[in-house]
Amino acid sequence: MKNVNKTNDKEKFRPVVGIDLGTTNSAVAYIRYGKPEIISSPNGKELIPSVVHVDTSGKIVVGKDAASALVAMPSRTIAAVKRKMGSSESIDIAGKKLLPHEISSLILKELKGYVDRVFGEGEKEAVITVPAYFTDEQRRETKLAGELAGFIVERIINEPTAAALAFGFEHIDENSHILVYDLGGGTFDVSVVEMMDGILEVKASTGNNYLGGEDFDWKLVDLFAEKMIAKHRVDPREDLRGRALLKEEAEKAKILLSTEESVRVSLPIVTVRENQPLGFEIVLHRKDFVQLIDEMLLETIDSVRNVLKEAKLRSADLDEILLVGGSTRIPRVAELISDFFQKEPRVDIHPEEAVVLGAAIQAGLKSGVLSKDGLIVTDVTPYSMGIAVLKEWQGLAIHPGGFHVIIPKNTTIPTTRSEMFCTSRAGQSAVSIEIFQGESEWAKKNHILGDFLLEGIPPNHAGAEEIEVVFRYNINGILEVTAKCVSTGEQMSVTVQDALVRNSQELYLESVNRLQEFLKKATSSDEEEWEGFQIMMQEMLQEEEEDDEYEDELTHDELREEAITLSERTKAMVGNYRGNERRQIKQMVSKLNKAILKDDFEELQTAIDKVTDKLIDLEM
Ligand code: ADP
Ligand code: MG
Repeated sequence: MKNVNKTNDKEKFRPVVGIDLGTTNSAVAYIRYGKPEIISSPNGKELIPSVVHVDTSGKIVVGKDAASALVAMPSRTIAAVKRKMGSSESIDIAGKKLLPHEISSLILKELKGYVDRVFGEGEKEAVITVPAYFTDEQRRETKLAGELAGFIVERIINEPTAAALAFGFEHIDENSHILVYDLGGGTFDVSVVEMMDGILEVKASTGNNYLGGEDFDWKLVDLFAEKMIAKHRVDPREDLRGRALLKEEAEKAKILLSTEESVRVSLPIVTVRENQPLGFEIVLHRKDFVQLIDEMLLETIDSVRNVLKEAKLRSADLDEILLVGGSTRIPRVAELISDFFQKEPRVDIHPEEAVVLGAAIQAGLKSGVLSKDGLIVTDVTPYSMGIAVLKEWQGLAIHPGGFHVIIPKNTTIPTTRSEMFCTSRAGQSAVSIEIFQGESEWAKKNHILGDFLLEGIPPNHAGAEEIEVVFRYNINGILEVTAKCVSTGEQMSVTVQDALVRNSQELYLESVNRLQEFLKKATSSDEEEWEGFQIMMQEMLQEEEEDDEYEDELTHDELREEAITLSERTKAMVGNYRGNERRQIKQMVSKLNKAILKDDFEELQTAIDKVTDKLIDLEM
């Protein structure tokens, strides 16, 4: 007789699945009999379109059926939501608004359903892939989307790294340098990976989060629209359905042009005017299409050149070139790549499946189903990360000014780096830590990740108090920053993680609410779904109660003090300028002084920002 108790239940094997949440297609896979295998949807498809649709009865449909509704019901159907991740731009769907990560969570929830059909219901751990070039927010939002869908997100890994893993798994005995060129629907990534004795080491990685097959489709849409404007003086893009129809036809034509030299696009009804159907017909040649997109493709070759430089390799050093992503099926891509490397890319890689299979391998390494000593992978940071510092400029310091790199681009992760900074004013009791990522020497030209205020610094001379700033970049590509005042010796550290975790918890709660509301209307009959969200919501509320208050604003006095310092410094600089610039600086100082006199918090803030921006612009 077997005694099944709670402890046994807990010890039960929990599968970890790998997920490719793509702009165009998504899939989930796991390790079965020692090999990665994609879990099919109930209708047998391995990849599902990343499309969400709310049907007229309010039911949420994801995948192929949703994609077929794109033209018929464009206001109820959303595609390519991944392009909006990290933007906090709300998206209208069936008369409601959802955030990009909430829509993504609906796609992941669909995949969770496939997983549950194999393993039974309940929590599942997942490794989710993201473009290597995804920002911190985009990674956090992807993680959040996974959690909202009911996954425990074990790991976020980079898509080209996953593709390299899928290749490495099959060629474990080879020692080689591999270039992964991943051009999908919305993003482009390129990574250089060194494979040696089963260790896959990403050497360098770069890319563009806004370049992919979607852009090629829209180029064709514009071409079709111009044709219609010329013929009928009507822009079909202004009609939601006309636009969706053109987009669908554009993608079809693009795909055909990968195998045919020319295609005829004939659409008798794109839109209507005064009850008259309006359409167009065009014959497209492959070379015309290539001309439309060549500039974008050449940009990807520039990135290839850059990534090789960063990896300190020459094109001849590369042994294998892996083409990943549906857009690499465009013959011109392979042509540009083989011209550049003087070598043909591998043909045994499945462009759409490599990423999800690699994600499953990473999941298998994580869960222990695959032996860890066989294959190891290390990745790098795609950006430089650091903080804003006062930058010495013409003998003066300006704020926020310069970007000081703490973790340079292409550092192997996980990594921890620390640096010392000092106070810049006498009696300074707080420092603002502003965290950025990017490659410009100017903070404002980079992407801000977050900021916080370190308080309680003992009064002292300018430069006398030391602040230690520690950056920890974890294996998921998520950053945590700590700042500490050295002299007090007390444990005085604030982590950005605190602020961001709170934010992400708030975000999570808001999302749960919104999705709950959305699902209530969408599937009023589906009581279970509703209950599931209520339980999640209660847990989140409890966690939030345990959360501390977090203060991250400058005090009014400090802001005023900052404005006075800035005003004095700027005044001292007037002499360095002539003519228009001199007049502009004088005007700004006078505005700043007015704000100081008026002593209104908001106005002070605005005036400081303006002066700072102007100073940096003058410098550049
Ligand atoms: P993602 O990773 O962004 O989900 P995929 O790797 O699935 O994307 O690639 C999807 C993109 O590839 C789409 O823009 C699609 O139109 C394009 N695509 C798929 N097949 C072809 C083809 N034969 N020729 C050109 N483009 C293609
Ligand atoms: Mg992809």
